Amino acid sequence: MAGYTAEDEQIIGQQFDKLLLSCNKICKSESDWEMINKAFLLAKEAHKGVRRRSGEPYILHPIAVAQIVVSEEGLGVKSTCAALLHDVVEDTSYTVEDIENLFGAKVAAMVDGLTKVAAALNDDVSAQAETFRKILLTLSDDIRVIIIKIADRLHNMRTLGSMPRHKQIKITSETMYLFAPLAYRLGLYAIKTELEDLSLKYMYPEQYEEIEAKMAATATERNEFIDRFISPIKEKLSAAGINFTISGRVKTVYSIWSKMQRKQIPFEEIYDLFAVRIIFKPNDLSPEKAQCWHIYSLLTDIYAPKPDRIRDWVSFPKANGYEALHGTFMRPDGIWAEVQIRSERMDEVAERGFAAHWKYKQEHDTEDEFDKWLKDVRHAMSQPTGNAADFLENVKMTLYMNEMVIFTPKGESRKFPIGATALDFAYDIHTNVGNTAIGAKINHKIESIFTKLKSGDQVQILTAETAHPNIEWLDHVGTMKARQAIITYLKRVRPNNIERGISIFDNRMREFGITPSARLFRKLLPAYDCKNKDEFYSKLGSEIINLNDIDQVLHQNSQNKVLKFWTFDFAGNKPKDLVVKKRDVDNLEEQKFMAAECCNPIPGDNITGYRDPRTGAIVVHKTDCQDLIALAAQKGENLVGNIKWSTYKAESYLAEIKLRGLDRVGILRDLSQVITVELDINIRELKIQSHDGIFEGKISLYVPDTDSLYSLIDKVGKIKGIDKVERV
Ligand code: MN
Repeated sequence: MAGYTAEDEQIIGQQFDKLLLSCNKICKSESDWEMINKAFLLAKEAHKGVRRRSGEPYILHPIAVAQIVVSEEGLGVKSTCAALLHDVVEDTSYTVEDIENLFGAKVAAMVDGLTKVAAALNDDVSAQAETFRKILLTLSDDIRVIIIKIADRLHNMRTLGSMPRHKQIKITSETMYLFAPLAYRLGLYAIKTELEDLSLKYMYPEQYEEIEAKMAATATERNEFIDRFISPIKEKLSAAGINFTISGRVKTVYSIWSKMQRKQIPFEEIYDLFAVRIIFKPNDLSPEKAQCWHIYSLLTDIYAPKPDRIRDWVSFPKANGYEALHGTFMRPDGIWAEVQIRSERMDEVAERGFAAHWKYKQEHDTEDEFDKWLKDVRHAMSQPTGNAADFLENVKMTLYMNEMVIFTPKGESRKFPIGATALDFAYDIHTNVGNTAIGAKINHKIESIFTKLKSGDQVQILTAETAHPNIEWLDHVGTMKARQAIITYLKRVRPNNIERGISIFDNRMREFGITPSARLFRKLLPAYDCKNKDEFYSKLGSEIINLNDIDQVLHQNSQNKVLKFWTFDFAGNKPKDLVVKKRDVDNLEEQKFMAAECCNPIPGDNITGYRDPRTGAIVVHKTDCQDLIALAAQKGENLVGNIKWSTYKAESYLAEIKLRGLDRVGILRDLSQVITVELDINIRELKIQSHDGIFEGKISLYVPDTDSLYSLIDKVGKIKGIDKVERV
């Protein structure tokens, strides 16, 4: 075939042979084999002459994606063909009709879906929320499209090394923001874990390498320890006649890194670097669930269990279908170790997620947690919401949710994300129950509908015909269903609200002694995110906004904060004029860098710039800033990745710390003594609140760099009575 060298042909042949070998378990007939071969030949012809950035022939990418689809996701023949063809319509002159003629409607529909997802991701005009909404819409067509897309993304992440830095950050941001959570929700644990690990590798290369090196250095010792821990288990289970495999699984770099971040501890202080997994072949004598508990009970004969750390996902599977019994046992060295107990079927569901899920579902024909979630997403998508950002936030909330089980008065169990309230529960029962809820009986005690629920609670909702939702309710719900219902209600009653809004507004203005003027509205409308007066009155009347903070709004200084004490160097070959070395705020020429207000980076932080397309100014964020990740996922081309802190010493940077402790006489004096006298740091703002003998405070201060900040945190933490100090 033209366009390929002999060497290309050899590598392509090798990779395709490997794929065919994996297809043995999915191809049932001669026509299956023919179809895969035909898809390969068409893709090879279509992509000929094209190379990836790494220099290899493009066709190796669709082959690799198909390989993931077959061997890591467990999908079938049609999905494999769609994977081979996934970039054909997007990148070459073939059309969806061509695919339909050659491969039938199913494959063509999947390729069409994949093309739309690719186009959405390449679209730099739409807002990110809209892009992700389009991607999620494919969920309601054929969920395999998303699963193949995840395979595509996984291969792109595996080969991200040859991409330029700003592309790496854009792709990594999208992966962390959407694809890893989706993989989790679809039950693709292994893939989700790898996506997170790769994301970390490209976000924080140094930290990644450091943890990886430390893991490698301690590997031998750890493996010996694991062997010692599991050998008595092996003996015990074998003696009980159980057919099983057991392995010690080392945690991923990402999970170690996130624990270090979460607990603010060094690598050396993380002890649970591995978990043990037991996978058993069930016998016919008792249900799988009972066999899980039997194994658990055998383990308690060897090691002391931690009774409050049992995770029973056998009785209550996770919403993504995950089933297993997790127990925690005391290791010989006195540290707790997690042991996961699964049957072979449970293991397949855990590793393969969705695909295994369908396989077993066909046999049982039941609606499970995954179907329920999908139904919720579909329902939400069918609502005329209009606001893509809201929608996405709602879906995202449900993607990564940790779950708890709540019971109805009749003992029926329902699942909720951690943090859900009685009001969420009310809406889950029925929209009308939610809309008229006035209180809840939680474990037979009357509580507010805003009460946060705990796993195992039994809840009964009290209603009154006269009750109705108001805007404040939105602050007290954590589920997509409740949010949607409240917003729908508030929108429905809005038309009658303009008049009410006008009278509320007039009253408040009189209270404040302000005469409404055009100038006043020019300030108010943008502050409350309204396009015109009607919208403003209507929102006011329906309590979507209130004027409680009007004082602040009116006195707000609308000027953007320009970073006063800022210096950066561009690494690499960027134009020299972008190097800002002066801290001269009055010189407009040099106001090119601004500190992002969301994350307030200071020297020592890992940073990435975002070029504001309107002003050209570069807003500097911490690399792991959530706002930046969202921006990057949307408009990656505006990222400026090669900024680093200048060695030129600037004076000081604004940072904020939060503290908490026991209130006592003189604590404030001690605090300012340490900060201003001992450490010679300027305080910009100090806010302290005291209640019930506890004081809480926020201090904004100017520090030279992260080292000084952390030494300050250290010193402040040692003041008598101070219990907790952290950077905001
Ligand atoms: Mn691709």
